[in-house]
Amino acid sequence: MLNREHIFEQIDAHIAAGEDERFAVLMLRVPGLREISLRFGYAQGEQAEDMAHALIQRSLRPIDRVFRAGDDGFVVLLPAMLSANHALLAGTRLIHAFEQPLDGTASPWLVRPVMGIALYPDHGPGADRLCRRASMALDEAQRRGELYVVYEPHDTQVEIFYDELREALDANRLQVFFQPIWNLQSDRLAGAESLARWSSPSHGEVSPANFVPFSEQSDLISVLTRWSMNTTLRHVASLSSFQGLRFAINFSPRVLSRPGMVEQLLGALEIWGVPPTAVIVEITETTLVNDLDLSVQVLRRLRDRGIGIAIDDFGTGYASIAYLRQFPATELKIDQSLIGAIRSEPHTAKLVRAIINMAHHMDLTTTAEGIEDPVTQALLVEMGCDFGQGFHLGRPQPAAEFLARFATTVPPA
Ligand code: C2E
Ligand code: CA
Ligand code: CA
Repeated sequence: MLNREHIFEQIDAHIAAGEDERFAVLMLRVPGLREISLRFGYAQGEQAEDMAHALIQRSLRPIDRVFRAGDDGFVVLLPAMLSANHALLAGTRLIHAFEQPLDGTASPWLVRPVMGIALYPDHGPGADRLCRRASMALDEAQRRGELYVVYEPHDTQVEIFYDELREALDANRLQVFFQPIWNLQSDRLAGAESLARWSSPSHGEVSPANFVPFSEQSDLISVLTRWSMNTTLRHVASLSSFQGLRFAINFSPRVLSRPGMVEQLLGALEIWGVPPTAVIVEITETTLVNDLDLSVQVLRRLRDRGIGIAIDDFGTGYASIAYLRQFPATELKIDQSLIGAIRSEPHTAKLVRAIINMAHHMDLTTTAEGIEDPVTQALLVEMGCDFGQGFHLGRPQPAAEFLARFATTVPPA
């Protein structure tokens, strides 16, 4: 962020002056400004920035202070805000101000601001934290497609997470759980999916749905994936015989494209003495988009060694058919949002049936996720779905417990 020191100084000076019990920091982005530079040239872009700056200033009170921050960003200090609602009012005024095209540029150009808001002292004692939290709220607004978001304190988890999660990983304090995968046609155990569990001293049980996406924003995802790979294989290696059981490990596509990943997985298989055919790599369909070419190359190398490749959460992404054409998958995992609806929605049931048929025509096996009751299971058996997973068939449980209970007592498929 340009200008950061200056802005921090001004905000901290405002706090030091001690005149204000509560004020707001508003982080504002006008994504369209960059577009103006790119389309009409930098001179036009700068002119538009000046105009946006003036527009923001005009629509606020004289005591409000507007700072430039980068090409398309502004930081606004809103003194004397009694509550979050007052800050939201300022936000609404800004949004109205931008409803007219920015005139004066070569051609009138409509731009829309996005905002994140943090309050002093509620969300931080000083400029640094207030600005970071207003930025987080701004990111959240962009993610949700909303025009403004006030920082929500539960986001604090994320700030503490990095060190804590890193430390938990280093100290091997995460656990691997196995959830059984069932062969629906023979009604026997087919294997398990490995799922990470983190019970943190300060946050309690943290769901992987929270910490996995968070890890994906940094190098932690590589550490997490390596940990998950090795711990899963270590558990699997304790089996006296694999008897055709297969174990699925979740891989973030971000990690797949890192150099050396294939070697690491193959190396780990060798160290633990697990045959490649006993392992399935799961990749989420939605996250494949970014580096499809690279992922395809990497996955092909894995598949050539006999490792299974499953497209996870199938049915929730956008480009399913385009992927399937070039993707070296061996299996589709049909998302639980579809499976959960086949009982009550005949058209969803038809869609799932069609997916299963299409997969089979393409020599892919199918796994249904999120089977929560016997009726759904029976429907899937009738549709010819190969494998199933879900609370009705077995919940995730500590890997050692799973291996002791299932792998020894249930004859595998
Ligand atoms: P996923 O790969 O789609 O995993 C299936 C999720 O559905 C798991 O959630 C599982 O506990 C849950 N589930 C299973 N059966 C049922 C059911 O019948 N009903 C319902 N409602 N849910 C069911 P979990 O363990 O919270 O994991 C969430 C996600 O986090 C996973 O989704 C996966 O994408 C990711 N994840 C988990 N462990 C790891 C890991 O070690 N590495 C990576 N990269 N991602 C992981
Ligand atoms: Ca999965
Ligand atoms: Ca899934």
